[in-house]
Amino acid sequence: MSLDFKKEEFTVEYLTPQGEKQVFPLELRTDPLTGDTGTVFRTPSPFASLRYRPDPEAASALVQRSVELGCPFCSDSLEKTATRFPAEFWPEGIIARGQARVFPNRDLFHTPYSAVLILGTEHYVEPRGFTPEVLVAGLEAAQIYFRQADRNPPGAPYQTVNWNYFPPAGGSIIHPHLQLLAGAFPTNRYRRLLEASRAYEREHGTNYWSRLIAAEKALGERYIGHTGTVCWLSPFVPRGRMWDVMGIVEGGITLGASSAQHLKDLAVGIIKILAFIQDQGQFSFNLSLFSAVAGDGSVWGLCHIMPRTTTPPIGMSDCSYLDTLLAHASTAIFPEQIAQELREYFR
Ligand SMILES: [Zn+2]
Repeated sequence: MSLDFKKEEFTVEYLTPQGEKQVFPLELRTDPLTGDTGTVFRTPSPFASLRYRPDPEAASALVQRSVELGCPFCSDSLEKTATRFPAEFWPEGIIARGQARVFPNRDLFHTPYSAVLILGTEHYVEPRGFTPEVLVAGLEAAQIYFRQADRNPPGAPYQTVNWNYFPPAGGSIIHPHLQLLAGAFPTNRYRRLLEASRAYEREHGTNYWSRLIAAEKALGERYIGHTGTVCWLSPFVPRGRMWDVMGIVEGGITLGASSAQHLKDLAVGIIKILAFIQDQGQFSFNLSLFSAVAGDGSVWGLCHIMPRTTTPPIGMSDCSYLDTLLAHASTAIFPEQIAQELREYFR
């Protein structure tokens, strides 16, 4: 049985000040799993990245400013600034794996377990500068943290690895760092994915994600490629103003139970996408990696990556009432176009 990639087409019309009629197509798309809708359109939107290119000096100006402000995560400061886990949680205080370090998040408690993951000692790494070794060591440090968290009552089966890279994406510190969240409850999108995946499996007797991968591979429009056990797709209903990409970790294995090879498969795919982001002239992105949940094979691990930007000439945010209040994704670049361009990076 094929999946229902439902689209409704609309047109938007207006007259230019000179009286010339302009007609643009608009698609309302419905996610085949969750029923969430979003619009995809073709206009001269600034977010179609053709009219305004991001300022090529913006990233280096932010790096320079961060050095002037001082960095709490550079190695000479980390010893003084990093919080420590209580001895009963982790006797060494800080979890270390290679150059990666994990310690409690001092100020922001989104879930009962909130930690900071520092990827290495280098203060600035450009998007294409991350290596599989650095990302795998970071994910292994995250695994150790999540296993410890899950051993403590009431358990922490819902685990995400999150990244705000640079200020347009919500990052306050340039030094490469991620945020680990775990707890006894899922965040809203995680819950919707879980509930919908369980409902699909009950109704159809098969796993949704396996079916989605088969359907997207057969269609070939949004399938980007595989890195080992991770399938990379351009989502049918994008969430970003520009575009986004989703990696599906096949088989429903949790992050905690993933092997070094699984983590490397993820890291290799992430690095290809970060290189694409930089080649597109962008320097900021969000990433969230949702773990599969132990004892529940209905949802598979998902790694969602989205470039973020502010737009010249006044520095407009790409996040607006659409995202904060209406919760309606509206995207100026077709996911099929991005998949076609990204496929070159996965050959
Ligand atoms: Zn630093």
